[in-house]
Amino acid sequence: MSTVPEYFGSLVFDDRVMKATLSDEIYNSFKKTIDEGEPLHTNVANSVAVAMKDWAVAHGATHFTHWFQPLTGVTAEKHDSFIRPSPDGRVIMEFSGKELIKGEPDASSFPSGGLRATFEARGYTAWDPSSYAFIKDKTLCIPTAFCSYGGEALDKKTPLLRSMEALNKQALRILKLFGVTDVKNVRTSVGPEQEYFLIDEKVYEQRKDLILTGRTLFGMKPPKGQELSDHYFGVIKPRVASFMADLNDELWKLGILAKTQHNEVAPAQHELAPIYATTNVATDHNQLTMEIMQKVAKRHGMVCLLHEKPFAGVNGSGKHNNWSIATNTGVNLLTPGDTPYENAQFLLFLCAVIKAVDDYQDLLRLSVATAGNDHRLGANEAPPAVISIFLGDELTAIMDAIVSDTPYVGAEKTVIKLGASVLPKFNRDNTDRNRTSPFAFTGNKFEFRMLGSSNSIACANIMLNASVAESLEIYADRLENAEEFETALHDMIKKTFSDHRRIIFNGNGYDDNWIKEATEKRGLLNLRTTPDALPRLLDKKNVDMLTRQGVYSVAELKSRYEITLDNYCKTVNIEALTMVDMARRDILPAVEAYVRDIAETCQAKIAVLPDVSCQYERGLLATLSRLVSEIDVATTKLESSLVKYKTIDDVTEASVVIRDDILPKMTELRIVCDEAETVTAEERWPFPTYEKLLFSVK
Ligand code: ADP
Ligand code: MG
Repeated sequence: MSTVPEYFGSLVFDDRVMKATLSDEIYNSFKKTIDEGEPLHTNVANSVAVAMKDWAVAHGATHFTHWFQPLTGVTAEKHDSFIRPSPDGRVIMEFSGKELIKGEPDASSFPSGGLRATFEARGYTAWDPSSYAFIKDKTLCIPTAFCSYGGEALDKKTPLLRSMEALNKQALRILKLFGVTDVKNVRTSVGPEQEYFLIDEKVYEQRKDLILTGRTLFGMKPPKGQELSDHYFGVIKPRVASFMADLNDELWKLGILAKTQHNEVAPAQHELAPIYATTNVATDHNQLTMEIMQKVAKRHGMVCLLHEKPFAGVNGSGKHNNWSIATNTGVNLLTPGDTPYENAQFLLFLCAVIKAVDDYQDLLRLSVATAGNDHRLGANEAPPAVISIFLGDELTAIMDAIVSDTPYVGAEKTVIKLGASVLPKFNRDNTDRNRTSPFAFTGNKFEFRMLGSSNSIACANIMLNASVAESLEIYADRLENAEEFETALHDMIKKTFSDHRRIIFNGNGYDDNWIKEATEKRGLLNLRTTPDALPRLLDKKNVDMLTRQGVYSVAELKSRYEITLDNYCKTVNIEALTMVDMARRDILPAVEAYVRDIAETCQAKIAVLPDVSCQYERGLLATLSRLVSEIDVATTKLESSLVKYKTIDDVTEASVVIRDDILPKMTELRIVCDEAETVTAEERWPFPTYEKLLFSVK
């Protein structure tokens, strides 16, 4: 058995393999393309293709695929084998630079939000050489972007790469102003903490709702949930431990830096965090991680649930997006430096983020908006739907001191006079265990905590990168033209802190008073649901910023709007139809059967003891009969709303009907069905209870 360092990345065509398989000339030229964005020459592409194919075939691969991330939010692949007939009737394995660089999947069934007319249905995929190719299921997977023939992005990766480029461009301008000239590029890094549930496959298979929608649509909370906090960081059960070991192995072979694993708050809930990587690579890796989690779970007779809210009454799952900005020389621009000058630079980048988050609260909020995530945000288990920033006491005190031009009293109680060149040196604030903040500064990075567990991290990072690029551009424009750099810098930091003070909140985000203060006093947005948030995407200020930064075209934004809302509507519609089906065909017959059991018992008792009162049975029969009618009524109401909903063509209108009519009717139906569950014999109940689901993995 080989050791981890020996097999780590063994299925990745990484730098080590390239160095070993490419000539020096080709390798150096290719490196320039990857690191510095130099154009890729045809001969280099051809040589890389041959090396890639030889390496892949030697590792058992028979096929290749352009691996991409369409707007469905999951990854897509279409496999082609390497074989080519040879004149002797046999085959050879072949792969060209052309095939590596560009693919033309017949992808007409992917959502395009009107971007691609049927006559140009094909779209094309283009290689992203900055993310390594890898082998999965005997297939060489080549990370690619996916575009229409008109050049419009049909995927999540293209805008992500554009947003990284926008931020790179502006950050380099700022660094130059600080006299930093050795930096070639600035990139954002992300470490996404991934939460998930594991349940036994046997109970999963008995739940139509889990199979069809990924979450339970019915179910009473069990007598024991998460209240004892005995699962969080608890001893990992052997079956889960063996799943985790297997998962780590697979991820490590794919070069994914799986690092931390532990039990989460809810029973059956766990978390995995990798070591952070450059954002586009981290995005690819997170997509792969989710896929492999599900595959490995299956092998262990379990199902991995990535839905944001698989069970009512216990915590749902999210994904914390740890984000920082770093130079190719290895400097994290969100780390307060050792000298005042570095400090000023740090404060400017900090300001850029604060300004971006306040100016584009709506974009950040809508970047995580899905039907699933709507169940978590604001439900006292995840941050509220209101965006604010946790800065920690020390940084907040510095900020307030700068705003009011008063001396700052540092941690050592020394008074420090503030000025652009003598900004204080402060300690890294390690005190953040405030899990209620949607956007927290945690020492040298920001943790965006609103993402849902099944979200692609691309969307959140696109908005984050783009809006920070916008702040930096405004700063660079002003500073480059300033008469006196230091004064201009100081004024700008001060102005940002005072203009955007409202977005800073270090208190408890779950507190109702905060929501009142945030919305009423501070004027922050509270976009509670997807239909509340999404229309903001097309607000002029947002369209202007995203197009100015070159991240999206207007047509691309419109398509994202359509597709995201359409996905929201379809998701809930499927859930509602599943509820109707389960209520009519499973729950009602089960309760009726139990009614018959009780009635028969009653009759049998009277046959033996004619004077018996059967008080218990009569009471139960009355309750069950009432519930049967209530379930029938609630189902009928939901059915008629669904009929009405079907007649609506406009997606915006449809999403409002889903939010205001369908979802409340689903809640009503659930309440009566869950009540019926509490009074029906467990053996009569048509599917496994929460207790069986949440404690199914022994
Ligand atoms: P927590 O205590 O918040 O649960 P974890 O260890 O689970 O912390 O996850 C922290 C994540 O933050 C990891 O993925 C880690 O790699 C990532 N991280 C650490 N430093 C940085 C950084 N500078 N930039 C981006 N991500 C970072
Ligand atoms: Mg964690």
